[in-house]
Amino acid sequence: MLDCIFCKIIKNQIPSSKIYEDEELLAFHDIHPIARVHFMIIPKVHLDSLDRCTVVHQSLLGKMLLLASKLAKEQGLENGFRTMINTGHGGGQEVFHLHVHVFGGDALIPRT
Ligand code: 5GP
Ligand code: ZN
Repeated sequence: MLDCIFCKIIKNQIPSSKIYEDEELLAFHDIHPIARVHFMIIPKVHLDSLDRCTVVHQSLLGKMLLLASKLAKEQGLENGFRTMINTGHGGGQEVFHLHVHVFGGDALIPRT
């Protein structure tokens, strides 16, 4: 996707603070963190959102969640962390390349 900012990050066309990379996934710090630690995990394949995923992406989605747990600990979130996937305009999604937010390290705002 030419105009996708996360695809540009994958291709190193714009800088990012990367913390993990393999053939399928990339993780990097959010440019506007909402907690002391806040990073995102994205697939290297462009998928607009969770709504575009099918059973074909089942393994990829599982890998994203397992990586969230692994990286959260590596980033110092031994006491726990929050994951968030915003999906669609109604879900508050701003960047339309699937991503899992992982954040924590401060007193998080209680869910309502
Ligand atoms: P969304 O609302 O789509 O779930 O979240 C998109 C996230 O991407 C936001 O938290 C925003 O701060 C982050 N973001 C947007 N542009 C960039 C960028 O160029 N670099 C990085 N590292 N994060 C970005
Ligand atoms: Zn993309």
